[in-house]
Amino acid sequence: MDDAHDTSDGDDEPRDDAHDTRESGRIETRAIHAGQEPDPETGALMTPIYANSTYQQDGPGDHRGYEYSRTGNPTRTDLEANLASLEGGEFGRCFASGMGGINTVLNLLSAGDHVVAGDDVYGGTHRIFTQVYEEYDLEFDFVDTTDHDAVEDAMRDATELVWVETPTNPLMRVNDISALADVAHANDALCVVDNTFATPYLQRPLEHGADIVSHSLTKYLGGHSDVIGGALVTDDPDLDERLGFYQNSVGATPGPFDCFLVLRGTKTLPVRMDRHCENARTLAEWLDDHDAVSEVFYPGLDSHPQHDLAARQMDDFGGMLSFELDGTLEQASTVVEETEVFTLAESLGGVESLIEQPAAMTHAAIPREERIAAGLTDGLIRVSVGIEHADDLRADLQQAIGTALE
Ligand SMILES: *Cc1c(COP(=O)(O)O)cnc(C)c1O
Repeated sequence: MDDAHDTSDGDDEPRDDAHDTRESGRIETRAIHAGQEPDPETGALMTPIYANSTYQQDGPGDHRGYEYSRTGNPTRTDLEANLASLEGGEFGRCFASGMGGINTVLNLLSAGDHVVAGDDVYGGTHRIFTQVYEEYDLEFDFVDTTDHDAVEDAMRDATELVWVETPTNPLMRVNDISALADVAHANDALCVVDNTFATPYLQRPLEHGADIVSHSLTKYLGGHSDVIGGALVTDDPDLDERLGFYQNSVGATPGPFDCFLVLRGTKTLPVRMDRHCENARTLAEWLDDHDAVSEVFYPGLDSHPQHDLAARQMDDFGGMLSFELDGTLEQASTVVEETEVFTLAESLGGVESLIEQPAAMTHAAIPREERIAAGLTDGLIRVSVGIEHADDLRADLQQAIGTALE
């Protein structure tokens, strides 16, 4: 893993001061230090929670970089720099939620513009596209983004964005970021990748040609199920300036305490992700051999249809997996009710394991036939594998499956 994560410019260049290594070392080092310096006055190690709405000016307009906290706040600045560094990008922008960031990307568009998106994007993304922005005369087409011909066919002169998630929810499809970025760029459209499931520890979309990376910080980056947040990262100064204009104008900015919590979370992202991946792989392999399980959806399994692509594009396969219980909707409901270590809940990416049933919860709004045609069967169970001991997680699923099939 160590070398896979070496995104620095190379070991051949000597690093002569500590600051350089803090900002350009390997991702484990940058996770802890990038964007953050001990306070010069007190030596305080951690970025303070700057609970300020406004800042003293030395003369009218003569300020020290901060005027008003919607526009900028020092705790947020450190988090934005930290996240940009993790994604290998120049510029980061943080938001009050993942949706706040997604909304800000859509603010780049104008009435009449067209967006091509995956047909299995996050439910909230589908909702803001179809129920908010279609009202503002943006147009959306949802296609199978693993089918590049389908994506090309959907492109129009008015297409300004190609919206990609990978891996996707809940079937863990893996999309080829560089191929989709090529299709977008051939049409002068931007390629936006929602990197929430993989995190920058496992996948850095800017390296594969994406223009903007979007995150729900609520998930792995926060990592402790205690904060809602979002972020956008780009390498393009003009794009960043436009995103910054909308960030400030729309005002869905996070408070300093939320930024502090995410800064605390990103420090341990690499060690948490290693354990998430290890536990998910252990469970995926065990479930794959289980008599009561008809299919396991995990990019790390050889049987996964995009396993080779995942192995190329990602440094490891993540902590999310789904499996299909060979049983009824009710039996799958019993499994998710009977687990004791896994908590029955929506969301993902925290240290604790969560379990949910898409057909009865996150995807219940989709009519049954359409849902099943999309692969979201009655017996489908999604788990966010936490960092507890793998043996306890396996025993818990085993007892719950046993009870359900009694
Ligand atoms: C949760 C999530 C979002 C939305 O983020 P919020 O922080 O809940 O607003 C967007 N995309 C993906 C893939 C998510 O899992």
